[in-house]
Amino acid sequence: MSRKTVNDLFVHSLSDIYSAEKQLTKALGKLSRAATNEQLSKAFQTHLEETQGQIERIDQVVEKCGLKLKRVKCAAMEGLIEEADELLDEIEKGPVLDAGLIGAAQKVEHYEIAAYGTLCALGKQLGFNDGVKLLQETLQEEKATDQKLTEFAEQVGNPQAKSAS
Ligand code: FE
Ligand code: FE
Ligand code: FE
Repeated sequence: MSRKTVNDLFVHSLSDIYSAEKQLTKALGKLSRAATNEQLSKAFQTHLEETQGQIERIDQVVEKCGLKLKRVKCAAMEGLIEEADELLDEIEKGPVLDAGLIGAAQKVEHYEIAAYGTLCALGKQLGFNDGVKLLQETLQEEKATDQKLTEFAEQVGNPQAKSAS
């Protein structure tokens, strides 16, 4: 697991986000079932499908760049999911839980945005141009999801707002 070169660091970081995405496929289903707001529930479901595509995209990056992923578990994602699970244990279903879930999901998206941003920068340095293109697509999806969640955060639990969409 030594990381001596930028290439090693890139492979390690890619392996880490691969683990994070895999952990998320399980967690997003749970969030979707826990959300009361129907639009929010759908948004989690939609991002679950995107996440499956993102995992396939990482497989493509590995192939295009001639890499081999390492066995890494993303400890940060494990922790973020644990915090989301605490919300599920402690708050009953409804607008307050929904607001908590939005926050938990945004923490996840911000982690991913940072991770993919770093991978794009490192990949550029390494000349992995095709790989970087794919990683940028995922980065855009994560940013769009974060933005959508911000809109939900401003609407959920606010009876004045027209139904969150
Ligand atoms: Fe993702
Ligand atoms: Fe990580
Ligand atoms: Fe995401």
